[in-house]
Order: sequence, then structure tokens, then C-alpha cells
Amino acid sequence: MQRPGFVHHLRGLVGDDGVVDRPEALLVYECDGYTLERSSPELVVLPRTPAEVAQVLRLLWAEGIAFVPRGAGTGLSGGTLPVGSPIMVCTSRLQEIESIDIANRRVVAQAGVVNLWVSRAVAHAGLLFAPDPSSQTACTIGGNVAENSGGPHTLKYGVTTNHVLGVELVLPTGEVAQLGGPVEDRIGYDLTGLVVGSEGTFGLVTRATLRLSRAPESYRTFLAVFDSVGEASEAVSGLIDSGILPAALEMMDGLILRAVEDAFHAGLPVDAEAVLLIELDGPETGLDSQSEEVRTICAEHHAVEVRSARDDAERALLWKARKRAFGAVGRLAPNYCTQDGVVPRTQVPEILRRISATAEKHALRIGNVFHAGDGNIHPIILFDERDRDEVKRVLAAGREILEACVELGGSVTGEHGIGVEKIAQMPLLFSPQDLHAMTTLRSVFDPERRANPHKLLPDSKVCVEARAPRRQAAM
Ligand SMILES: Cc1cc2nc3c(=O)[nH]c(=O)nc-3n(C[C@H](O)[C@H](O)[C@H](O)COP(=O)(O)OP(=O)(O)OC[C@H]3O[C@@H](n4cnc5c(N)ncnc54)[C@H](O)[C@@H]3O)c2cc1C
Repeated sequence: MQRPGFVHHLRGLVGDDGVVDRPEALLVYECDGYTLERSSPELVVLPRTPAEVAQVLRLLWAEGIAFVPRGAGTGLSGGTLPVGSPIMVCTSRLQEIESIDIANRRVVAQAGVVNLWVSRAVAHAGLLFAPDPSSQTACTIGGNVAENSGGPHTLKYGVTTNHVLGVELVLPTGEVAQLGGPVEDRIGYDLTGLVVGSEGTFGLVTRATLRLSRAPESYRTFLAVFDSVGEASEAVSGLIDSGILPAALEMMDGLILRAVEDAFHAGLPVDAEAVLLIELDGPETGLDSQSEEVRTICAEHHAVEVRSARDDAERALLWKARKRAFGAVGRLAPNYCTQDGVVPRTQVPEILRRISATAEKHALRIGNVFHAGDGNIHPIILFDERDRDEVKRVLAAGREILEACVELGGSVTGEHGIGVEKIAQMPLLFSPQDLHAMTTLRSVFDPERRANPHKLLPDSKVCVEARAPRRQAAM
């Protein structure tokens, strides 16, 4: 219960337009990209500066109130769902890129800076910020840090944690901690690495020092066409085994590619059962010989054709088809849900066999479009929500696929995080001792569970249970 004068005090800190409390305005914040569960916060606070974030958290601490951090709300595991905390602190006004250091290849960006803005700000110098989630036109640096986000080029360039040198973290008490950065290879514990991927459960990140990478000089982009998903996935293993490291290695199966072609007319081979989108990048020298190797490996795995993009326009068309794949899925069924799991790359053929067996067992249609090179699968289960029995089978199939990922040495999430969505699956991966150790670690930063409570780590007090399949899709 908030004390009288609390909201007035908040407005004093962040301005009248920095507090959202009208019910209709709060609707925007009732869920993120995980739309299955919804719950409106009582208040959303929009600080304008990192210093205001610290003042707001200090006030909340004094009032004994927990908070939920939020960036752009594109998260896909319900990390911004306000369970057990009525106040949301949103970084959307922390939009400044505070410094750009081209010579040392780093920038300091506030948490609300949109991912793509960083690369745009340094493109003139031939640099970029490598993590490129497909949501990069909207998602924020703070959200990327919290989720340790990946993207299509994760295969070669790594995920967010590989590109963050330091963070400023405001603890739930309002104290400000500077962790890591700007120097590479700091001694002592890697506290920055600990914060990256902590899903807002340690406090609120207000700034990050980001490592910049050189933009590739050249690209070669291929579409390899196969008569079976099995052959395509064996080719994935073959490519990885060969030592070539593609910048991206993506797969679409026949079900998905026909829907994509129907929707976007990108010239995809509608008779095929699977295609691989393979991209090489780097210095021009050497790309042709690697391209030959790619063609040879695909042929060895019975590719019926390997097309290559002849120019930037063709490359853009292939990527458009891949990135818009989910937009086309609505043509296949009234509803669909997407799972996000990961297996070791060598297990891609096996997990695809298991997905196919699961589809058969539950009489469901499942399409696949995913980051094959990372072993990060996104099976799309098609259904009709009016059919209650089918809904139950979809939930069972989703569970079984994730269990298979774990059994094959993988994990229940490749890139979307645990949030509230996958809390129930944490014990599949971690023993009670592991979970206890993580809870103890969390207590170092947040002993009273004030930062994003009831997320990431299971607790006995709140459980958001899946009653219907999730519908959103992303890659
Ligand atoms: C179309 C689409 C495509 C996507 N593609 C990808 C993809 O390719 N790869 C990928 O990894 N993900 C992808 N995602 C998921 C999502 O975009 C990422 O997880 C992204 O990093 C979330 O950023 P956000 O600013 O929207 O964070 P939010 O959704 O607002 O928050 C996500 C989590 O981070 C916490 N958080 C946010 N800001 C802070 C902060 N400043 N300090 C502490 N905690 C914070 C929140 O509490 C929440 O737990 C996609 C999503 C969509 C909708």
C-alpha cells in the first residue's frame, strides 16, 4: 500500500508527464511480446536520466515497494509482467548515446537507446554493434543486456555478453554500482557478465559501455535447396564440422517456405522440403574459396541446387523472406505458437526428428524456421484455439520438445529468456542446489526481491501457468 503523497513525490522527481496512471494508458504496459498473461501495473514511471532512476528506486525502497524494469516491451518470455510489483520503471526516455569513441571502438549508451541506433551512429566509421536481434529496430540496449539477446549473426559474432564492457546498475536501494568497462580484460570477478542475462532481477541497468566491431568488407549469401529436412540438417552439421564459420546459417522447412512464398513472392523453391540461408562475410580475399567449400558440402549432403545472391538487392530479398517468415504463418492456421529451445549444433538432425515424431504423436502440424547454425530451434506449432483438445495437445507437444532439447544436452531457451514463461521448466535444467545457489547470488544484489520479483528463478509464492499456447513468434 502506498503512503499518501507517494505519487506526488514521484511526480516531483520525474515530472508530471513521467508518471503514467490512467487505466487506458496503462493498457500499453499490461504485457510484453508474451501476450498469454496480462496484468496492468498501477503506475509506470518514466525517468529522464540515470540519476532520476536512482532517485526513483530510492523512493521505492523507502516505501517498501518492488518494481519491474521495462525497455521497449518486445521481450518474449513475460519478463515485464507486473507480478508481485505494482510499479514499472520504464527506460524509454533514457535515449542518449553519451559518448562515441571510434579509436577505441566503444560507445556508452543509456538503457533506453534502441539497438539499431548504435550501429547507425557509428556506420560512418565502418563500425557496428554486432548483436542484431530481429527486433533491433525497437528493442533497447537495457533489454538486450537483461536478456543477453542474440540474433541471426550470433553464430559468428556472439551474443550481447560478448559485446558489453561494462554497465551502470542501480540497485533496489537506489545505490549506483559501476561494473566493468571501459577497459578490456579487467581483473577480479566478471560482475558485468553476471548482470548480462539477469533479466532485471539485480536492479535496473541505466548505462552500458558497448564494444563496437568492424563492419564486414564483403558478403556471399546462398540459398541451398534440399529434398528433405534431414539432408538439410546434416548439411548444417557438415558446414560446422568443416571449420567454416558462416556469419549466419538459417533453416526453413517446406511448410514454412511455401507459406512465405505465397505471401511475399520471393522466388523460393516451393517444391523443396527445406532450404538453408547461408551467409559468409569478411575480407573479399578468401570468400570465393569458402563459397566453393559451401557448395561442395551442400552437394555432398544432396542439395538439389545452391543459388547465390548476385547483388545487394537479391541478398536483401532473401533476408526479407527469412525475416518475414513468421508474418506468413498466419496463412497456415488460425493460431500458432512458437517454442524457443536450443541443442548442441550436432544434435540439430536429431531434434528435428524428435519434433517430427512429436507432431505425429499428437496429430499436429509443426513448421520449422530457425537459427540452425546455433542449434537454436523455433518450432511453430499450428492449431485452432476453438478446438480445446488440440490446445491440450499443443501444450503437451511444446513441453515434450523442450524436454527433448534438455535430454540432448541443450536448454529450454535459446535467446528469449525465462521470464515467467519458462520458470516451471527451470528444474529440468537445474538441481535444487543449483537454484538455491542462484537465489543466494541474487540476494547479494537484491536481498529483498524488490527487482523484478517472481521472474527467472522459481519461487513457491507465484506461479504463472500456461493455460493456452503462446501465440507470438519471433526469431
Ligand atoms: C519480432 C521480434 C523479434 C525478436 N527477435 C529476437 C532475436 O532475434 N533474438 C533475441 O534474442 N530476441 C529477440 N526478440 C526478443 C526481444 O526483442 C529481446 O529479448 C530484447 O532484448 C528485449 O528488449 P526490450 O527493450 O524490448 O526489453 P523488455 O521486453 O522491455 O524487457 C525484457 C526484460 O528485460 C528487463 N529489462 C528491460 N530493461 C532493463 C533495464 N534497463 N535494466 C534491467 N532490466 C531490464 C525487463 O524487466 C524484462 O525482464 C524478438 C522479439 C520480437 C517481438
